Amino acid sequence: MTTGTRPRLRFAPSPTGYLHVGGARTALFNWLYARKFGGEFLLRIEDTDKARSTDESTRAIFEGMEWLGLLWDDGVVYQGANLERHQADAKKLLDSGAAYRCFCTPAELDARRREAESRKEAFKYDRRCERLPRDEVERRVAAGEPYVVRFRVPEGTTEWDDMVHERIAFPNKDIEDFVILRSDGTPIYNLAVVSDDIAMGITIVMRGDDHISNTPKQILLYRALGASLPTFAHLPMIHGLDGKKLSKRHGATAVGDYQHYGLLPGALLNFLALLGWSPGGDREIMTVPEMIELFSVDGLQKKAAIFDPQKLEWMNGQHLSMIPLEELELRVTPAIVTARLATEEELVERRDWYFRLLDLLRVRSRTIDDIVRQAGPYFLENIEYDPVAVAKNWKDPVEATALLRATREALAQVSDWQTEPLETALRSLAESHGISAGKVFQPLRVALTGLPVSPGIFEMLIQMGRDLSLNRIDKALAVLAT
Ligand code: GLU
Repeated sequence: MTTGTRPRLRFAPSPTGYLHVGGARTALFNWLYARKFGGEFLLRIEDTDKARSTDESTRAIFEGMEWLGLLWDDGVVYQGANLERHQADAKKLLDSGAAYRCFCTPAELDARRREAESRKEAFKYDRRCERLPRDEVERRVAAGEPYVVRFRVPEGTTEWDDMVHERIAFPNKDIEDFVILRSDGTPIYNLAVVSDDIAMGITIVMRGDDHISNTPKQILLYRALGASLPTFAHLPMIHGLDGKKLSKRHGATAVGDYQHYGLLPGALLNFLALLGWSPGGDREIMTVPEMIELFSVDGLQKKAAIFDPQKLEWMNGQHLSMIPLEELELRVTPAIVTARLATEEELVERRDWYFRLLDLLRVRSRTIDDIVRQAGPYFLENIEYDPVAVAKNWKDPVEATALLRATREALAQVSDWQTEPLETALRSLAESHGISAGKVFQPLRVALTGLPVSPGIFEMLIQMGRDLSLNRIDKALAVLAT
């Protein structure tokens, strides 16, 4: 990047599947860099592989990025629409002698590959067509013989200062004269990427480590096309807890899955930001503006990042607790409506009560689904009783019945349904029974919610209100009697 120019970065996914969390991480780092340093973040859909690219994948990429809030500047660039320029660049390279036509057929190349393998040698194109006389080339082209275009790799070493890895060098002798244009005239990945990155004025190419071996080829293409080089940054791979490359075996890897599991986009972004970057110290929880503020190239890491789903869930819990209630409401309400706990109109009518409920439930929740699960008892006529909670807290049905009856009586006498009177009532009940207050609260908790965990007992009683609370105890007594 030359100083004074605005950095231009891009995310260049191939639309051959859903938006993978690894792709989202790459998109995020590009986006963070652009936002932090006043640059531009562009989106290019690399749809040149017509057989594997689908509109559905393209839509999933847009949806995932929009959900995450990783919005791109300018219109989307579709690589497939740039075929003519790719071909023109290949022609430029042919004209300057930086590339040549190769007439070797796939069958011939295969045979040579097998032969090399039988000698236990690595196969590399033997440059057979590199020195064909010009008139022979012209004659074979005129005769309609198919050919590919290969880049003539010069001698020497190709090196660059990677933003993450510092100096990386590849001896050119290890790079074969690679194909840039197929026999059907379509470009190979490296040519299409370089041609597009030049045309889009990209100054920083930030992508996964798995592209490191493409970079020397791309640098050679930039030079041969007379273009200035961007800065390269290769981000570390993401591994599962077992140290293997993250894949479906490790659980959900699609951004869309996390959206449907009830994760907050801000929490997923926070989690992804730490996969290959650290703001320094032991800082972990960050909002998006904080991530932009703290982002620095120094914090980019070389070593593989570990994807720990439990940490993601924990992080989501932290974000659930800290986002404004208005935002939480926007995320939770659709899930409450889908779970048929209430309609939107009902929630609007009881807005203050509903916001208090959300504030109460988020404390013990790690996901939006947790909130919805805990919300059930506040809306439903009948609840289900968690068998584990029942086994633990209503161990002896006779005892539990007696205690709940006494609890109901004590509560029924509380006319001012507030923490203090409720607390006095329940604590004196415990005292008169010669048991700890917890022994009174636990069976009551199960009676009210059916759940093993819930907010504090008094907050819960107040949130449910007098009628619903007493009604729940009656129902629990009926269940215990069966
Ligand atoms: N389309 C490539 C991929 O999805 C990315 C190319 C690049 O970033 O240079 O892996």
